[in-house]
Amino acid sequence: MRYSVLQILKEGLTGNRGWKPVWREPDPKRHYDTVIVGGGGHGMAAAYYLATVHGLTDIAVLEKGWIGCGNVGRNTTIIRSNYLLPGNEPFYELSMKLWEGLEQDINYNAMVSQRGLINLFHTDPQRDAAVRRGNAMLLAGAGAVLLDRDALRRKCPFLDFDNERFPIKGGLWQPRGGTVRHDAVVWGYARGADQRGVDVIQNCEVTGFDIRDGVCRGVETTRGAIGADKVAVCVAGSSGQVMGLAGLRLPIESHVLQACVTEGLKPAIPGVITFGAGHFYVSQSDKGGLVFGGDIDGYNTYAQRGNLPTVEDVCEGGMALMPMIGRARVLRMWGGVVDMSMDGSPFIDRTPVEGLFFSGGWCYGGFKAVPAGGYCLAHLMATGAPHRVAEAMRLDRFVTGAVIDEKGMGAQANLH
Ligand SMILES: Cc1cc2nc3c(=O)[nH]c(=O)nc-3n(C[C@H](O)[C@H](O)[C@H](O)COP(=O)(O)OP(=O)(O)OC[C@H]3O[C@@H](n4cnc5c(N)ncnc54)[C@H](O)[C@@H]3O)c2cc1C
Repeated sequence: MRYSVLQILKEGLTGNRGWKPVWREPDPKRHYDTVIVGGGGHGMAAAYYLATVHGLTDIAVLEKGWIGCGNVGRNTTIIRSNYLLPGNEPFYELSMKLWEGLEQDINYNAMVSQRGLINLFHTDPQRDAAVRRGNAMLLAGAGAVLLDRDALRRKCPFLDFDNERFPIKGGLWQPRGGTVRHDAVVWGYARGADQRGVDVIQNCEVTGFDIRDGVCRGVETTRGAIGADKVAVCVAGSSGQVMGLAGLRLPIESHVLQACVTEGLKPAIPGVITFGAGHFYVSQSDKGGLVFGGDIDGYNTYAQRGNLPTVEDVCEGGMALMPMIGRARVLRMWGGVVDMSMDGSPFIDRTPVEGLFFSGGWCYGGFKAVPAGGYCLAHLMATGAPHRVAEAMRLDRFVTGAVIDEKGMGAQANLH
């Protein structure tokens, strides 16, 4: 079924009895050409692009829970391509371009909303860094505007410009940044992949790998063994656990990241705003809730819930920046397990085990990367060569020293 305005009208007039399930619920086959472990954004996008770009459809996506149960349905929905380093910026700009055509491509309303993103700066050195980043963005075609204090005040009069704890000197604005309805993205990719013959298999946990003579020949699952010529692991916060089953250790730690949403308010926030003197960022959902978050909890965990001291710290950041937020009531808060790499940048690479591929290390920024992450993993698996924009995202970069240290923080996961 193709979704369209006419279809909605037709269904509306005939009792909504014609809608079909968005994807099938097939039983797993004994063997596939390609098995993708993890039905989050990256796994599902990879399956979709393997089918649509490379014409490969003998694929199963194995998901231990339900589609959208992981970070793809838990994030704060921000998309942007405001990176600095050549190892990152072209990749995120490809992702932004894919976002811009995504809904037409997958025929699914993902509520892509490019209402802009502003990174605030509070000191002169921070302004210098913003100028440098903005220039890198302009060179990559991402677009960037440097806002001085007056221009920023006109855009965001609710920020505390008069009694501020950290003086707001301006902001780097990416007008093409914004938000996307998070779980709709993975549902849309799943539907598109399913329509092309990909088996989307929920409640199927991968519990081991069939590795013989250094070659991966399939996976063990809670629904039996499944053979495969190629296997890709895209399990985000579970990367360490799952790759451990294949005998591999990763330069990744798992941490919990929390987020909060308030009651619905009238439109107040023009786009996404990030505080430059503390860890706090905020946007407003289409339903009116202020969606905000900040730092990871700071200890290693696989728990999908965090603790109140971090929430307090995030709320303090919000109060320091825009005291009006103190009047809003928080409705919900939640956590997701993020796979923090040591330099804050991701991996899309083959592994030392032949036929086993890995995509991970997405930290707390992997949602915006979903289209390009899937596209580049599909490219690597189908052609055997890394995509041009993901060449630097190698697993061995901590051996060679070619790290992608976007923040210049060094090899410490909780600082990225
Ligand atoms: C609170 C929060 C806010 C965030 N905000 C943003 C943001 O604003 N912008 C942004 O770009 N990024 C953000 N992120 C990060 C982003 O959500 C993640 O980096 C990204 O979603 C990870 O990729 P994924 O979608 O493939 O992961 P997931 O959706 O987590 O997918 C991995 C899947 O693998 C499955 N799995 C695990 N183990 C197994 C197994 N053994 N067998 C089978 N399946 C398995 C899991 O159930 C899960 O569904 C945020 C994350 C959190 C937690």
